[in-house]
Amino acid sequence: MEWGIINKENFKDKTSYDVPIKRWDPLSTVTIQSKDFGLRKERVRYYGHYSYISPIRSARPKGFKTEDDEKKFMDCSKKFVGGFKDVFSSITEGKIVYDDGGNPLSDGYTMIITQDEKRIDSPFSEVPYRIERIPKACRALSLINRYPSMARIIDPDITENIVKKLPPYIKISRGINLVTISRDFYPSLCFNLIPTDVLTSIFLSMKAAILYCIEEAIERDYYDIPVMPFFNIGTKVGGSQPRIHSQVYIDLTMDGHGSRLEGHLEAFKEMGDKCHLCITSHGGSDRIILETEFWTFYTTGSPVRNYHIRFHPNEHLRRFSQLKVNQIEDLARSLKMIFQALDDLEIDKNRNILFNCCPFGYDANFHMFADIIPHEIIGGAEMADDMRVARKLPNIAAKEIRDSLKII
Ligand SMILES: [Zn+2]
Repeated sequence: MEWGIINKENFKDKTSYDVPIKRWDPLSTVTIQSKDFGLRKERVRYYGHYSYISPIRSARPKGFKTEDDEKKFMDCSKKFVGGFKDVFSSITEGKIVYDDGGNPLSDGYTMIITQDEKRIDSPFSEVPYRIERIPKACRALSLINRYPSMARIIDPDITENIVKKLPPYIKISRGINLVTISRDFYPSLCFNLIPTDVLTSIFLSMKAAILYCIEEAIERDYYDIPVMPFFNIGTKVGGSQPRIHSQVYIDLTMDGHGSRLEGHLEAFKEMGDKCHLCITSHGGSDRIILETEFWTFYTTGSPVRNYHIRFHPNEHLRRFSQLKVNQIEDLARSLKMIFQALDDLEIDKNRNILFNCCPFGYDANFHMFADIIPHEIIGGAEMADDMRVARKLPNIAAKEIRDSLKII
């Protein structure tokens, strides 16, 4: 069931639970009153805790052999020398690429949603193929994730069959999972590890791919669509491949959203016209790390981890896909500076970047923001509630990062 395709051929001999499912936890799931965010009345919607359970995720290839292997890539002290081969090389080179032992790194099959910003294959296309060489001038590619958490295309007869057998809190998880990669191999976001124009191109390609997917989804009668763009950098935070890559989860199950997003939506609703991010000085500014023409970076006063950084566009935008070119270029430059400052402070190089956005179709007030969360081991009490214990005072963390920041 690679590429989120379930058809008669790959479903035979399988049971209902062998498909990607979305399971709402009955002990934390509540029905959304559809008047809340202008949601359509035809469907029952929930918020709460849910899990995507997808058997195909375990088939993902491993990109790092050892921990030392990974460290080598993350060394930002010298300029990264290109030419490294990985699982994506057979795609970007348009021919099968082999490892040093002579084994093929992948079969080269793919589906390309956007090559830089140019639309290539339909987000609902069904046949992966081998591409010819990607032009050297191309900087980023957005692909359909081969090992997704959601099913993108399901044979209607099979849907009928599965749905009948599933209890009410369990759905087939439907949606599109995207991976955006740099055309040439780069490992992370510091000064020496990726050129700014490549990172800019990754964001632009993601944006174009999101808009293409949403347009095509709406065409197919999907609506009220949560979109989650994120980066997992390093194996400890879920990054299975050494090449820098972002992902986007586009959930087409049309059954609601998680508790955290509900919290954000309700908080912005309560703020009304007085958007916190538009008016706050972030605790009298001693938590601000970097303010540019377009973005503000600061340490959040309620950190999820030590050195948890939050950032937002200065403009009140609801979604990642509304960002303009100059905002995106500035973001790429700023993120590189922040990552370098964290590296210079020797903060764990395994980091997540999470973009929090208003779902498509929701009539909600929202100011998009994102989190940079360095990896740390999590404790028991922290698993029991939406709570974290941090030891570093956010204003001190901000000062350390500010002092370590080199403006480029
Ligand atoms: Zn705002």
